[in-house]
Amino acid sequence: MALIVHKYGGTSMGSTERIRSVAQRVAKWVRAGHQLVVVPSAMSGETNRLLGLAKELMPDATLANSEAALRELDAVAATGEQVSVGLLALALQAQGIPAVSYGGWQVPVATDSAYTKARIASIDDQRVRADLAAGKVVVITGFQGIDPQGNVTTLGRGGSDTSAVAVAAALKADECLIYTDVDGVYTTDPRIVPEARRLSTISFEEMLEMASLGSKVLQIRSVEFAGKYKVPVRVLSSFTPWDIPIAEEASSGTLITFEEDEKMEQAVVAGIAFNRDEAKISVIGVPDRPGIAHQILGPVADANIDIDVIIQNVSHEGRTDFSFTVHRNDYARTMNVLETQVIPSTGAAKLIGDTKICKVSIVGIGMRSHVGVASKMFRTLSEEGINIQMITTSEIKTSVVIDEKYMELAVRALHKAFGLDAGAVVAD
Ligand code: ASP
Ligand code: MG
Repeated sequence: MALIVHKYGGTSMGSTERIRSVAQRVAKWVRAGHQLVVVPSAMSGETNRLLGLAKELMPDATLANSEAALRELDAVAATGEQVSVGLLALALQAQGIPAVSYGGWQVPVATDSAYTKARIASIDDQRVRADLAAGKVVVITGFQGIDPQGNVTTLGRGGSDTSAVAVAAALKADECLIYTDVDGVYTTDPRIVPEARRLSTISFEEMLEMASLGSKVLQIRSVEFAGKYKVPVRVLSSFTPWDIPIAEEASSGTLITFEEDEKMEQAVVAGIAFNRDEAKISVIGVPDRPGIAHQILGPVADANIDIDVIIQNVSHEGRTDFSFTVHRNDYARTMNVLETQVIPSTGAAKLIGDTKICKVSIVGIGMRSHVGVASKMFRTLSEEGINIQMITTSEIKTSVVIDEKYMELAVRALHKAFGLDAGAVVAD
């Protein structure tokens, strides 16, 4: 007997028919002798609908700057999952499986008070354990929690993944199965590269990079949680027939692993990630003197804007150019901070902004032990005539910023060059 956490996304919960099929799948696992905790998302489209209603009553800008309003936004958004858990518990009971549903506030799933992006502080496992011991399936809302003052919070879009992994960590579950509308983690997005392959395993560190670099399979915080508490997480399809044999289901999809040794035979690069979420800003003609990076980026950080790639050029006659990227949503705000604070304080000549960029990254723990991986990336891009605007590296990834219009070409060329295409012979 194992203790298993299942997470079902919005598509799997999209209609009563689908919810019934989820219940049948869960019932199959229970009948095989396992203890089950299930964490569903809201029915597909529901969170968007709820947020849309709220925004009809209060404009975005006002909402974003009012704690009181954000509190209510979370109160509204959290109801999507509230409905899901009740319906799923009913569907399980209809299958003859004893089941009980809880909202995050009932477990409780304790979070901080950062509405719309709350972080889980702790999960009380007592009530859940008692139910499991009594032979019940426990269905817990994804996405929601409760802050120290008793306010309902939500964990950010896609937050049900994090709820599920956190619940699995709290219960020391044997495995957390994330059922979703893709059948695993791919070497890159198959919509861009049809030759992309599903990975049967991916190391936790690679998954973390892939998630933070733009692969949307899992919410990044869920991957962080899995790493911190060493939760075995498997991403698998919710579209397989519910009655396939458990052994087949349990070995499908992609398993996130923690051991590197198994990966010795694996390709050096595990996958190619990309995103179009960033914008580049250059501050031209800043005086090159100690403290200048802080003078430029300090006010940006004070405005709560995250900075990603940073480049400072060599200086000429005491002046230099300084470029960095921010999320596109923060672009206008960043330009404003620079114009009103940084230009006057530094005497920089001007600002150049570019929102038509993208970031393409190669990720693989094999990069640690292989030299020349980054240079192969640069060579591949140059052979395609793609100009690299910025570069950043870490131990297991290299990212480049390029013109957005070359994104698909770059991803395809790199996928091929690193032997990731289906049927490719991996050679270097
Ligand atoms: N329902 C929430 C959302 O749409 C949480 C989730 O699905 O993970 O973002
Ligand atoms: Mg999701």
